[in-house]
Amino acid sequence: MATEVSRPRVLVLGGGISGLTAAWALSGGETPDDSLEVCLIEAAPTFGGKIASTVIEGRRVDLGPDGFLARRPEAVALATHLGLSDQLRVPGASGAGIFARGKIRQMPAKLNLGIPTQWRALAKSRVLGPWALFRAGIDVVAPRHDLRGKLGDRAIGPLIENKLGRRVVETLVDPMIGGIHAGRVADMSAAATFPPLLTAAGTSGSLMHALSASLPPSPSDGEPAAPVFNSLEGSVSSLIDRLVEVVRERGVELLTSTEATALHHDGAGWEITTTSDTLRADGIVLAVPTGPAADLVRPLDEEMAGLLETIDYASVGLVTFVLDEGALPEDLYGTGLLIPSIARRADGSAFLTTAVTYLSSKWPHLQTDGTVLVRVSTGRIDDLRFSALDDQALVAQLTGELEELFGCALRPRATTVARWIDGLPQYRVNHQLRVAGIESAADRQPNMVVTGAAYHGVGIPACIGAAAYAADLLRSKLLET
Ligand SMILES: Cc1cc2nc3c(=O)[nH]c(=O)nc-3n(C[C@H](O)[C@H](O)[C@H](O)COP(=O)(O)OP(=O)(O)OC[C@H]3O[C@@H](n4cnc5c(N)ncnc54)[C@H](O)[C@@H]3O)c2cc1C
Repeated sequence: MATEVSRPRVLVLGGGISGLTAAWALSGGETPDDSLEVCLIEAAPTFGGKIASTVIEGRRVDLGPDGFLARRPEAVALATHLGLSDQLRVPGASGAGIFARGKIRQMPAKLNLGIPTQWRALAKSRVLGPWALFRAGIDVVAPRHDLRGKLGDRAIGPLIENKLGRRVVETLVDPMIGGIHAGRVADMSAAATFPPLLTAAGTSGSLMHALSASLPPSPSDGEPAAPVFNSLEGSVSSLIDRLVEVVRERGVELLTSTEATALHHDGAGWEITTTSDTLRADGIVLAVPTGPAADLVRPLDEEMAGLLETIDYASVGLVTFVLDEGALPEDLYGTGLLIPSIARRADGSAFLTTAVTYLSSKWPHLQTDGTVLVRVSTGRIDDLRFSALDDQALVAQLTGELEELFGCALRPRATTVARWIDGLPQYRVNHQLRVAGIESAADRQPNMVVTGAAYHGVGIPACIGAAAYAADLLRSKLLET
């Protein structure tokens, strides 16, 4: 009579895109296999973490990310593997505006992640005044050398300020790179968020010239440009729904409303205390944000907990407006508009708005007759003014700002407020050293890996890539022994 051999059991903590991807990779990835027994626990009542959607006036609209980079392969590859390739959508517009020198202007051409690479294009855009433009031009005629020796890591803001001047940073770079992370480029790591900048700044010549070399190639004549972003017809959250379906079909046990509260290794294996039960496992994937991860590992390794706590998070609010078609001016340019922190309203106060996305122009699948969708972003690591307002007051404030920006009176048909408290991890200078410390501490624990947006990239493709890598590492360890 054959005796059943028990399989190594892995517990994944966290059911966002990182945890779900880890569960998918542990259950074989593209070639399903059941060598491991996998269970995933999620504290919230639903899976997806920062990826969530709702139905607004008959359309399913994302409340968190509305798309993902197409130039990194991981999200498109996963969506394709999950049978969603016919659901992939491309933006219906390109380019963006910026509120600069008192009005909405088109972003300069030839930017590399918000950083100018061509002085002429910068001048043509008129986003800078004459002195700031002259200061940026010094980079072309007499590039400033960096006197601090070999660049291990640097803060993005000061690095660019030295080369191109403060106004370039305040007007373009902080709204763009800072805005993606809801952080500040003043202390954001170049090595972790935009390595080509570090390489370019390490050369002795013009920064703009060096950065132009890392611009994606222009499409040849007649060829359409490859899309930079993709979304999904049924919203980005349909990726989560499908992933849940597929891993469940493979036999992965999935538990919601189950929060891990303590971890303990008794020599034979892990014991995980949760809000509903005590679970056992041979291996652990920690795919939760750094705050809960620190609480869980503190009794095991105080230093690891301390390192995890050095990665903090910015909170943001996203308010989606349904407006009557024609309520906004017809000549809106591109997919949206960025508002630098230095911009001021007519009364001299600072905008709460950090960005406006023309959602239904950006994603044609969201278009319906008679209405347009607009999304307003608010909140930064050092600006929590939105969190002091209740939903009604926040909507009223942001409606007023939209009216001022576009010079029209608005009567929203519907609005939805999403608050992402501790939504975006901050990659500060020397982020990669912190991550190396956390990963080697995890490696000292028996069969533990950490993964998630806090470590190797906040975007969905980066989370997928890192989670699959971490899961494969753990899988090989467990199946070797
Ligand atoms: C507002 C916003 C807009 C964004 N826009 C984009 C975009 O357009 N494109 C893009 O690519 N990326 C975007 N991102 C980034 C991206 O969405 C996130 O980085 C990514 O979804 C994070 O996934 P994750 O699984 O690592 O973490 P999370 O989604 O945070 O998942 C972690 C999960 O762990 C659970 N958890 C916590 N503690 C415990 C515990 N003790 N026990 C069990 N479970 C626990 C949480 O409930 C959560 O579900 C955006 C992020 C935000 C906040």
